[in-house]
Amino acid sequence: WFSTAAAIEELIIPPVQVNYTKLLINGEFVDAASGKTFPTLDPRTGEVIAHVAEADSEDINRAVSAARKAFDEGPWPKMTAYERSRILLRFADLVEKHSDELAALETWNNGKPFEQAAKTELPLFVRLFHYYAGWADKIHGLTVPADGPYHVQTLHEPIGVAGQIIPWNFPLIIFAWKVGPALACGNTIVLKAAEQTPLTALYVAKLFHEAGLPPGVLNIVPGYGPTAGAALARHMDVDKVQLLQPLALRLQIAFTGSTDTGKVVLELAAKSNLKQVTLELGGKSPFIVCEDADVDKAVELAHFALFFNQGQCCCAGSRTFVHERVYDEFLEKSKARALRRTVGDPFKKGIEQGPQIDAQQFEKILRYIRSGVESSATLECGGGRLGSKGFYIQPTVFSGVQDDMLIAKDEIFGPVQSILKFNDLDDVIRRANATRYGLAAGVFTNNLNTANTLSRALRAGTVWINCFDVFDAAIPIGGYKMSGIGREKGIYSLHNYLQVKSVVTPLKNPAW
Ligand code: NAD
Repeated sequence: WFSTAAAIEELIIPPVQVNYTKLLINGEFVDAASGKTFPTLDPRTGEVIAHVAEADSEDINRAVSAARKAFDEGPWPKMTAYERSRILLRFADLVEKHSDELAALETWNNGKPFEQAAKTELPLFVRLFHYYAGWADKIHGLTVPADGPYHVQTLHEPIGVAGQIIPWNFPLIIFAWKVGPALACGNTIVLKAAEQTPLTALYVAKLFHEAGLPPGVLNIVPGYGPTAGAALARHMDVDKVQLLQPLALRLQIAFTGSTDTGKVVLELAAKSNLKQVTLELGGKSPFIVCEDADVDKAVELAHFALFFNQGQCCCAGSRTFVHERVYDEFLEKSKARALRRTVGDPFKKGIEQGPQIDAQQFEKILRYIRSGVESSATLECGGGRLGSKGFYIQPTVFSGVQDDMLIAKDEIFGPVQSILKFNDLDDVIRRANATRYGLAAGVFTNNLNTANTLSRALRAGTVWINCFDVFDAAIPIGGYKMSGIGREKGIYSLHNYLQVKSVVTPLKNPAW
């Protein structure tokens, strides 16, 4: 059990138990072939929550075979789209019923505030599956007006077995971004959860089977990147059946994580069997506060854009560009806001920030803070660890940050705000775009011309004007430049899991 009776007094969560720690292959929880397990930790303390079965290449082979069989032999691909949609809806209802427990498990394994998990992320998870259930029976091709006496139609067919690799910062939300569209389109899945956060993926996969998902359609294989992840990315899927039905057996790989790992995944996919790849990678998103901005509101939004989820967001507004006319006031107020940020046990009411995910990220963030100080940015507040246990970091604000400093170039993935000054729109456009990343951007202005100019000029997959981190199910997300390939969410995400077949028939066949 996670919480003692005394702790519940002070905390806001229902007790939660870890029931699922094995690999889920072909609808059954099984041990890893090697019998190995790995510990999964509580970021509040660094203590072990549970030992989880550790998948390796042999388990990936088993899972891919199960997924392939489920795709080839059914009943999944033989069901009507409406029946598949009903399963997605039943699953969403079950998640809603268990959402307090799931939110508690997510917080326990990840460290994010329970209130955020329960009030924002679980409802969004449910909404995402309702959204994709709605698409399942609305996927159709076109009739094509080709030259000549031909009837031409396109069929939009599932790719087959989708390999999905997900990170630890939003274990459930990113699960939904990947599993929702893949299943709606009729694919089967092998999903590798992040080694830091395997627990909620196993739990919801169990609920999927309760909702009527046939065995083998969704397989969950927690494990490490270079072993389990790489085995999935380079899987050749070779056997006789493949030669007979290459369409059904082609693997698709969808990855979210760092840009460096994204390159590895792309290389493995290319070197093995040219899998179709989608990548959702890192970012160094600008948040631009214009001279006409209401400073109080801009401060609050810029703070949220950076500090949300302990700063562990691929979209984080991690370069806060502020116009020189409002810079001093903005800086004072941002510092005051960071000092007011409530950091502590994520299960307590009113906590805005919990611990970072693990010791590795914690150390990495502290190294970046030291590099900020050494490169003579001004440390306005924070800068160190909080407490002596777990992975808590003080909300940190740097001012006077220059474009060429490491803290302005690299993805820190932590609660470290870098404030930069600008004086003219053309200048800030050039500087905002001077990065290898292009995931998102934020703009704060009351001027419609400025908003229009910036939204066209910024090279990023999402531009939020006077808002940030709006993650509606229907809004596509993805990267320009080295922030990724492809789009997730919305109608665009369906393209990742479908392939198009043209069927050409003479209008009048001489043989008839
Ligand atoms: P990572 O890219 O190493 O891990 C993400 C996923 O990829 C995990 O499931 C991991 O097991 C897997 N993986 C790792 N190496 C692999 C390989 N060789 N082949 C296949 N899969 C592999 O990210 P991380 O180490 O957990 O975090 C490092 C940095 O990545 C963070 O500091 C942050 O900058 C970035 N990150 C970005 C996102 C995002 O949402 N874009 C999420 C998490 C981390």
